Amino acid sequence: MTELIRVERTDKKKNKPEQGKLGFGKHFTDHMFIMNYTDGRGWHDPRVIPYQPIALDPAAKVFHYGQTIFEGLKAYRTDDGRILLFRPQLNFERMNRSNERLGVPDVDGEIAIEALRKLIEVDRDWIPSEEGTSLYIRPFVIATEPELGVSPSLEYQFIIIMSPVGAYYPEGVNPVKIYVECDYVRAVRGGVGEAKTAGNYAGGLKAQELAKAKGYTQVLWLDGVQRKYIEEVGSMNVFFKLEGKVHTPILNGSILAGITRRSIIELLRHWNIEVVERAITIEELYEAGRDGRLEEAFGTGTAAVISPIGELNWQDDPLVINGGKTGELSAKLYDTLTGIQQGRIADPFGWMVEAAGPEAK
Ligand SMILES: *Cc1c(COP(=O)(O)O)cnc(C)c1O
Repeated sequence: MTELIRVERTDKKKNKPEQGKLGFGKHFTDHMFIMNYTDGRGWHDPRVIPYQPIALDPAAKVFHYGQTIFEGLKAYRTDDGRILLFRPQLNFERMNRSNERLGVPDVDGEIAIEALRKLIEVDRDWIPSEEGTSLYIRPFVIATEPELGVSPSLEYQFIIIMSPVGAYYPEGVNPVKIYVECDYVRAVRGGVGEAKTAGNYAGGLKAQELAKAKGYTQVLWLDGVQRKYIEEVGSMNVFFKLEGKVHTPILNGSILAGITRRSIIELLRHWNIEVVERAITIEELYEAGRDGRLEEAFGTGTAAVISPIGELNWQDDPLVINGGKTGELSAKLYDTLTGIQQGRIADPFGWMVEAAGPEAK
C-alpha cells in the first residue's frame, strides 16, 4: 500500500487538561488515525481525522469473539523541543506477532510508523512538557465484520489514539505491595498470553480487584499448570536481583515479551551485570528472601518503566524485600531508562526515534 495519508483537521479543538492533573488514559488528543481492511482489498483509506466515536454494527466480531489486539508506547518531549519515540518498530513487530496469533492480517510496520508520525505532527501541542509526563499512544486493531460465525473476520479497523499522561511517580519512585495469586491464572502456554489481546486483561480483572480489596496494588501471576513458576506482575514483566545477578522468567509462551523487559536486559548486560532468563519458582524466591539473598525485585512496563516491589504475600506469608524500599539498582535502571527516553542522557543503543524536530518558530 502506498496510498497517501489523508488529513482532516478538527475545527473544534478541545481545552487541554492541566499538566499536574493528567492521570493515565483519561484525556485524548484532538485527532486519531484510522484505516480499514477488507478481504481481497487489504488495508486502505489511511486517514487522520478528528477524534470521534466509531459506529460499528452490533454483530461486529470484536464484540462477540474478542478478535482484537493492542499496543502501548510513549512519545516524549525533550527539553530542546524534539519529539522522541522509544523503539516504536518493536511495538509494531509485536503487534504483528499478536495479529498472527489472533488470525488478524498484518499491518505494515512502516505504514504504522508513518501514520504515527503524521498523527503526532497534527497533535504535537498535546505532548506535555513537565518532568515525568509523556504522550501515551494506543494503536489497536478490531474485527469489524458483522457476522456471528466463529471464524476470522474479513473486515478490520486499525486505529491509533493518543492520551497525554502524568508522571507515574509524582512523589518519586515508590515500591508496591504485591499479592501472589494462587487461584486465578492469567494465561497458559498454547493460549494467547504472548499476545497483547483484550481477553488476557478481562480475565485478570477479578483477581486484581480481590488483591486490591486486600490492600495490594497488583497480583503476581504464577504459571497456569502448577501454580509454581513466576510469570508476570499485573501487566508488567518481573525481575529479581539475587546475589548480584538479575533473574527474570524466561519467555515460555504464556508471558508477554515486554519491550521494557528487553531494554532492561540489554542495559544490564551493557553494564556487565549478569542477567539470567530462566524458570523461577515462588518457593525458591521465598527461600532466597528468608536467607537474605533476594536483594531487589521490580516490575517493568511502558507505563511505569520500573516499579519496585517492596513486599510480596504468598499464601498469607508476607515477604518484605529490601526493607520495603527502592533498591539501588532499580533506581539506577529507572533513572537511566527514563533519562534516555526523555533525551536528557545519551542513548548509546540508538533506541530513540525522532518523530519530529524542534517546532519552527
Ligand atoms: C504490555 C505488557 C507488558 C509490558 O510490555 P512493555 O512493552 O514493556 O510495555 C508486560 N506484560 C503484559 C501482560 C503486558 O500487557
